[in-house]
Amino acid sequence: MKYRFGLLGKKLAHSLSKIIMEEFFDESGISGEYLLIELKDHKSFCRFASNALKEKVFDGFNVTVPYKEWAFSISKRKKEETEKTGSANVLYLENNEIVGANTDVYGFVKSLTNNFPDIKVGRALVVGAGGAARAVIYGLSMIGVGEIVVVSRTVEKALNLKNFFSEKLNVPLAVKNMKEVEENDGKFDLIVNATPVGMFPESDMSPLSEKILNRISDRGIVFDLIYNPIKTKLLRICEQRSINTLNGLEMLVLQAAESFRIWTGIYPHTEKAFKKAYKVLK
Ligand code: NAP
Repeated sequence: MKYRFGLLGKKLAHSLSKIIMEEFFDESGISGEYLLIELKDHKSFCRFASNALKEKVFDGFNVTVPYKEWAFSISKRKKEETEKTGSANVLYLENNEIVGANTDVYGFVKSLTNNFPDIKVGRALVVGAGGAARAVIYGLSMIGVGEIVVVSRTVEKALNLKNFFSEKLNVPLAVKNMKEVEENDGKFDLIVNATPVGMFPESDMSPLSEKILNRISDRGIVFDLIYNPIKTKLLRICEQRSINTLNGLEMLVLQAAESFRIWTGIYPHTEKAFKKAYKVLK
C-alpha cells in the first residue's frame, strides 16, 4: 500500500513539511508521498479537502494558515484537542466520516517539556490570538499553568478567544494590551510568541519590547513558535540577556510526527527529520 498525504494552505513555498514527512516515510519503511497543495480561498479548501478524503484520493491532510478553523468546521468528528481549540491541523477519514485532530497542541507541549522537563509555569504571556495561540493556551492548561495573559494587536480577536475558552479552560485567562503589560503587570515564567512577527523575510523585527522582556522571571523561558529563521531577533535578544529560549522547529517536527502516527499507526523517529529541516534553515 502506498499512502498519499498532503499539506493544504495558501502560501506553501517555504514549507518544510514535505522534507519532514518524506524523512518519516524513509525512517519507518512506509511507502508514501506528501504533496503541497495551495488553495486560494476557504471554499476551494473545503471542497477539495472533503472530496479528496471521501473519494479516497488522499489518506490524510495537514492544514495550515489560513484554513485550520475551516478544517474544524468540515470535521464531522473532532478529537478532544480539536474541540477545545476550535481548530484542526490534521484531517483523515474514519468510517466514512471526516475526523479533525489538532497536533499543534501535542507539538507545543512536548517540545516545551522535552526542553524544560522541570518546567513549572505560574504565569504565562501569550502574544497573538490566532490558531497557534489557541493550541498554546490549551496546551498550557494541560501542563497546569496558573494564569494566562493574552495580548493581541487586534483586541477584538483576543476577546473572542477569551469568550471561546470561557467554559473550556480550568485556568484564568486575561486579555490585556501591550502597554498595560509593559507598564504595570507582574512577572511571567513563560512568554510565547504566537504571531508571525520576526519570521522570514521580515527577520529584523521582534514582537516584544525590552520592557516586556523585563517582565520575565528569573528562570523564565521565551518560546518563539517561529522556526524560520531558527534564531529570530527575539531569541537573539533573549540570549544576550541570558533568558532561556526555545524556537518552533522541534514543535513543527513533533506535530508532524503525531500526524504521521494518527494516519499510519506508527510514530516515526524524529531525529533525522529534525536535522534535515535544520540544515535547510541554516
Ligand atoms: P494566525 O492564525 O494568522 O494568527 C496570527 C496572529 O498574529 C494574530 O493574532 C495576528 O493578529 C497576529 N499578528 C500578525 N501580524 C502581526 C503583527 N505585525 N503585529 C502583531 N501581531 C500580529 O497564525 P497562526 O497559525 O496562529 O500562526 C502564528 C505563528 O505561529 C506563525 O509564525 C506560525 O508560523 C507559527 N506556528 C508555528 C508552529 C510550529 O509548529 N512551530 C505551528 C503553528 C504556528 P491580528 O489579528 O491583529 O492580525
